[in-house]
Amino acid sequence: MFKTEKDFGGYWVKNIKEFKGHEQEPLWQASVYKNGKKIGFFSEDSRGGPARLDCNTREQEKELMDFAREFLGEEAWAESYHTFLSKIAEETDYIKQVKKLCKNKILIQTPEEIYDYLENALPEGYVCQDCDEIITPESLADAYINKIGNFMDLAPVYTEDSDLICHKCYKKRQSEKR
Ligand SMILES: [Zn+2]
Repeated sequence: MFKTEKDFGGYWVKNIKEFKGHEQEPLWQASVYKNGKKIGFFSEDSRGGPARLDCNTREQEKELMDFAREFLGEEAWAESYHTFLSKIAEETDYIKQVKKLCKNKILIQTPEEIYDYLENALPEGYVCQDCDEIITPESLADAYINKIGNFMDLAPVYTEDSDLICHKCYKKRQSEKR
């Protein structure tokens, strides 16, 4: 499951822009948000210096730096805020990739690997063979990414008998077996 700002103490990054450093190395910068409000700007340095963090207030800056150090624990290093914000940026990139995948595919799971959504994909929406509910890639993506409703109830399952059913019905079948 995706991590959200809740998993990062309310911190998030948006408007990520990539650029090149003086040795053509890939760098990035972004707006920094706390609980949905923009609090500052972050940028890696094009000349290889320390990354810049400019918050609206000194307190916000200190709060972020303290939180990053605590969040990273043993991973904490000189530029903890840099590592911390990079982790969030990685997560946003992952979400972007999955959203792209969900545009024309439905991500699928098998009973053995229920978290293996990215490996197997169906080209279109599907109809649950047990309850006839139509599940589109959009509804699944919404439930998955925004945690609207229960993603696990919508996620398709291939059963041992090669039936394609929703997770809710899969659970029902499992309980009926017992
Ligand atoms: Zn169903």
